[in-house]
Amino acid sequence: MILTENLTQRYGRHEVLRGLSLDAREGEVTLLIGSNGAGKTTTLRILAGLGRASSGSARVAGIDVLRHRRRAQRQLSYLPQGVAFHPRLSCRQVLGFYARLRGVDRGRIDHVLDLTGLAVHAEKRAGKLSGGLRQRLGLATLLLPDVPVLLLDEPGLSLDPEWRGKLQSLLRDEAARGKTVLVTTHLLAEWEGAADRCLSCRDGRIEGEVDPDRLRPENRILIPFLKQAV
Ligand code: ADP
Repeated sequence: MILTENLTQRYGRHEVLRGLSLDAREGEVTLLIGSNGAGKTTTLRILAGLGRASSGSARVAGIDVLRHRRRAQRQLSYLPQGVAFHPRLSCRQVLGFYARLRGVDRGRIDHVLDLTGLAVHAEKRAGKLSGGLRQRLGLATLLLPDVPVLLLDEPGLSLDPEWRGKLQSLLRDEAARGKTVLVTTHLLAEWEGAADRCLSCRDGRIEGEVDPDRLRPENRILIPFLKQAV
């Protein structure tokens, strides 16, 4: 479960979050959509325990992230935008590093290599990976700890269409296992039919909920604010 209430955040005089309240449920993939600068990344970073809020509350798996950051972080896994890894480490070594960091059994490394189609690239250095493979390695690190909450910031951007589809089905599988999955995206059309809920973020607030089965441009006609927002 993810819950934020009246989150506010400012950078200097710029109010980035202006009372942002959202919830995402267990067993569901929830999209957070909105144009550049709407506040999606800021919200995700706060939920991941990496960003501060000026006021409001944020809970992950029932834990107050702002008060009990470390405890909350043990319940979540976060894939930021534009992941980067040490270029000289192989995929397997990168995953070994994260397994140690998160206290994960090394036995899961082969499992996540398989899930992300990286088994054949396991010994390749991260510095030699294409953008798409690097993103799949990011996805593997995300899935390494078996935790109840997954946060993903624009995870589809550097993936090819086949892997965008696989990403969605991987996330649906994780949700089906009871996890709460929150994904930011502006690749709306591609997510049509692939999520359980879709929240629209604009100017630092949630302005409404959109039917996740009507995200293609031709289906958006009935959603006036979405036409402007994304
Ligand atoms: P989104 O993910 O929806 O594109 P962001 O959360 O990244 O939006 O950014 C929201 C606003 O906050 C933008 O106007 C951005 O310029 C501003 N912002 C984000 N991070 C910082 C920062 N570290 N310092 C100053 N302004 C920032």
